[in-house]
Amino acid sequence: MNLKELTIKQAHELLEKREVTSSELTRAHFDEIKKNDGDIHAFLSLAEEEAIESAKKVDARISKGEPIEMLAGIPVAIKDNILIRDIKATAASKILENYTAPYDATVIKKLKEEEAVFVGKTNMDEFAMGSSTENSAFGPTKNPAALDRVPGGSSGGSAAAVKAGFSVYALGSDTGGSIRQPAGFCGVVGFKPSYGAVSRHGLMAMASSLDQIGPITKCVDDAATVFEIIRGVDTLDSTSADREWQSYSDKPVDIEEIKFGVPREYFTHGLDPEIEKNIKSVISKLEKEGAQIEEISLPYSEWALAAYYIIMPAEVSANLARFDGIKYGRSKINKNEKLQNLLNIYLESRGEGFGAEARRRIMLGTYVLSAGYYDAYYAKAQKVRRLIKQDFTHAFKEVDAIITPTSPTTAFKFGEKTHDPLSMYLADIYTVSINLAGVPAISIPIKEVNGLPAGLQIIGNNFEDIKLLKIAKIVEDMSK
Ligand code: GLN
Repeated sequence: MNLKELTIKQAHELLEKREVTSSELTRAHFDEIKKNDGDIHAFLSLAEEEAIESAKKVDARISKGEPIEMLAGIPVAIKDNILIRDIKATAASKILENYTAPYDATVIKKLKEEEAVFVGKTNMDEFAMGSSTENSAFGPTKNPAALDRVPGGSSGGSAAAVKAGFSVYALGSDTGGSIRQPAGFCGVVGFKPSYGAVSRHGLMAMASSLDQIGPITKCVDDAATVFEIIRGVDTLDSTSADREWQSYSDKPVDIEEIKFGVPREYFTHGLDPEIEKNIKSVISKLEKEGAQIEEISLPYSEWALAAYYIIMPAEVSANLARFDGIKYGRSKINKNEKLQNLLNIYLESRGEGFGAEARRRIMLGTYVLSAGYYDAYYAKAQKVRRLIKQDFTHAFKEVDAIITPTSPTTAFKFGEKTHDPLSMYLADIYTVSINLAGVPAISIPIKEVNGLPAGLQIIGNNFEDIKLLKIAKIVEDMSK
């Protein structure tokens, strides 16, 4: 039995049957971290002592014969932009280098109620801005599936941690693809729930109308397990939705009742022909098993990236205004006499604290929101956003789920796109419209391409997260 390869379900069963203890499970994951994280750099900080302590508590309950929660005693890694009380939270930014979280995010509270074991905080692109984890102020993460390649981003550390066996599952955040794209690059499952399904309280805001927290796991069943625990309305997040949710364990969907849409705009130039071949082969298998397949059109997809790179930086510029060198983290206050002037404190702290990509987006965002340009850029992008949402509303009148590639390519090499922001932005071509529309989507691994993992994305209708997960389970079985 290889403890570092266990799924949540397997780990839970072994704990219940007392075939393994949570302490053993936790130690096995830390052994793996010690052996390989020097190379991979999935973590920005580790919480070994606290983790062992939590594991022992669960073991004590098990030995008393108490029933345990589904996630109890199971090691999890958390992206560094999600707050865990009394643990450092830097969002991979120098400006928050010494920041310790004063409270728990709502998702963390829920995991604590489950008695989850927190292994540590994972590396990411600074403030979740990027597609490769190369924008981390603390150095990039390597892809465990190919060490010369990026793990994707911005939740690259979380995807790498799961792939490398450093934790059984992880949490990430997804504003334009940051859970799905790294999951695809590393060969694991990544799920972005419907906007509003999971509370964002305690997630450092990047672009508030797009951000969602979601799980990165080894299989679809595990993604559903974690989702069912972290979802739900929260008085601390007014955008969280109060819904009656179906249960994933209710009757499974029948493949013959599923109609899949395949959008023609997602299978054009720029897509690696080998990825296309592997996705098409999954689609024909589904068809052979009785699913209906229909070509559909999402005509406004073409404008998604342009709209995203206006709306997102606009929100980024507003959200990052709070990091002023006074309220949070790094500050140039009192260090130099000449800086004893409020404006200089802001300028010096922010100029030194933010990396190039954060600065680029703050400037872009303030520009598109400024008088005179607001209508030409921001207001127009919002109109395009509505049209993109309408594309999905129309499509879901016809189909149950939409299949696309997760990314146009497999994991690229370090440095390949760092000098050309636009080529980096193109890595998100298939993921951003989902955030603009607010619908749920999941990436699952399919057959490798030239030895590298590849991902297939399935998109569901708004708040049909459970139906999407059930469908994804069928596709997962078919992709093996
Ligand atoms: N890669 C995209 C960006 O750089 C998405 C990031 C995210 O989802 N957090 O904005």
